[in-house]
Amino acid sequence: MKTYNYSDLSKAEIAKLVQRNVDPANEIRAIVEDIIANVQQNGDAALLDYAATFDKVTLDKLYLDKAELEALAAQVSETQKAALDTAYKNIYKFHEAQLKGEDKVETMPGVTCWRELRPIEKVGLYIPGGTAVLPSTFLMLGIPAKIAGCHEIIVCSPPQKNGGVNAFIAYVALMLGINRIFLAGGAQAIAAMAYGTESITKVDKIFGPGNQFVTKAKTIVQSTTTTAIDMPAGPSEVLVIADDSATPKYIAADLLAQAEHGIDSQSVLVCTSAEIANKTIDEVNRQVVTLPRAEIAQQAIDHSYIVVVDHLGQAVNFSNQYAPEHLILATDKWEEITGSVINAGSVFLGNLTPESAGDYASGTNHTLPTSSYAKAYSGVSVDSFVKKITFQYITTDGLKNIGPSVQTLAELEGLHAHANAVAVRSSN
Ligand code: NAD
Repeated sequence: MKTYNYSDLSKAEIAKLVQRNVDPANEIRAIVEDIIANVQQNGDAALLDYAATFDKVTLDKLYLDKAELEALAAQVSETQKAALDTAYKNIYKFHEAQLKGEDKVETMPGVTCWRELRPIEKVGLYIPGGTAVLPSTFLMLGIPAKIAGCHEIIVCSPPQKNGGVNAFIAYVALMLGINRIFLAGGAQAIAAMAYGTESITKVDKIFGPGNQFVTKAKTIVQSTTTTAIDMPAGPSEVLVIADDSATPKYIAADLLAQAEHGIDSQSVLVCTSAEIANKTIDEVNRQVVTLPRAEIAQQAIDHSYIVVVDHLGQAVNFSNQYAPEHLILATDKWEEITGSVINAGSVFLGNLTPESAGDYASGTNHTLPTSSYAKAYSGVSVDSFVKKITFQYITTDGLKNIGPSVQTLAELEGLHAHANAVAVRSSN
C-alpha cells in the first residue's frame, strides 16, 4: 500500500486520491448500453443468452419456484440457520423502528397538513452473485421491503454453475416469504426489471449493490425509464481512521475484509501514527496470504493506500472528502470526533466494532452509497421502500384565514385561475 503524508498533498492531489471507479473512456457504459438495448428488444431470450455468455450456464427456464427453493434450502445446516435467524431478527428490529408515523400539523386555524407513508408497490431486488454469493444482501433488502409493505417483490440473482442459486439465498427467500427467484445477473437483470420482459415485471424501483456493470446499468435506467433506483451502490470500500490507540492486527483485518469483496474494492487507512501505519502494512502482508480469496484481496490492496496525518481533525477532514461507504473510527477518542463526520454511509465506533458486524447481523443496513455518493445519499432503509404523501384539509374558517394570502400570491404570479379557485369557494 502506498503511503502519503497529508501535509505534502496539494488540493488537486487529494481530489485525485479520493476519486474512484471512474469510467473515463466510457467503456463500461458502452458495454452496458448494448446489454440494455438487447434486453429491451429480446426480453427473456436475451437473459438466457447472457446466462450462457457471462455465467457459463445453460438455463431451461429463467426462475426457481417455491418447490425448487425448498429443495435447495434443505441443505442449510442448523448452525447456519441459527446465524441467519439472528441476523434476520436484529435487522428486522432495527428497521421496524424506522416506521414512524408523523403528527398532523395545524399550520393556521382550520388548515391541517400531514404526511402518510405508502409502500412503493413493485420493487426489484438485485442480489449479487458473481464472485461471492451474498444472502446477507438479500436480508438487507428483503426485510425493509417487507416492513414497508411492498406488494410485489421481484428478485434477480446471477445463476450459479449448477443452474440455480445457492442454498442460503433459497433459505432467505423462504424466510422472507418470497417464492420465486429470477436467474439473471449483471446489467441484464437491471434492464429486465426496468423495462420488463415476458416473465419479469417492470418495477417502480430497483434496489441492491453490484459490480460496475450493475451500478452503471442502474444509473442509466433511472434516466431512461420511469423506474427509480435506491442509489449507486458499487464496489465496496472502507476508510479506517486510526491513532496510536489502534491495533494494527485489527486494522489490517478490517482493510482485508473489504478488499476480499472484489479487485475493484478499496481500503484506505488514515492514521496519525506512522508507526501504526507501518505495522498495519506488515499485518496486511501477513494476513492476506492466509485468505482463501487472497488473489482478489491482494489486487484490491494494491490500489489501496495510507495517508499519514498530523491529528484526528485532519483525518476526519480527509475522510469527509473521500465520503466512504464504511468508516471505522479505530481510536479510543471516537466520541470526540463522531460529530465532525459529515459524509459516510455507515460508521463503526472504537476498536472493538468490526465492520463485518454491520455487514451481517448487528441490525444496520449494508447496502450503502459508494464512490463518494455518501455526500448526498443515505444507505437503504425502510424509507427507501416508501413514499411520503402529503395531505391537507381546510375548513370554512381555514379558507377565511388562508384564502386572502393565496389569492394575493396567485395574482402576483399572474395565475388568475389559481386565485379564482379560492374566490369561488369564499363567495359562498
Ligand atoms: P454481481 O452480481 O454484481 O455481478 C455478476 C454479474 O456481472 C454476472 O452475472 C454477469 O452478468 C456480469 N458480468 C460479469 N462480467 C461481465 C462483463 N465482462 N461484461 C458484462 N457483464 C459482466 O457480482 P460481483 O461481480 O461479485 O460483484 C458484487 C459487487 O457488489 C462487489 O463489487 C461488491 O464490492 C459489491 N457490494 C457492494 C455493496 C454496497 O452496499 N455498496 C454491498 C455488497 C456488495
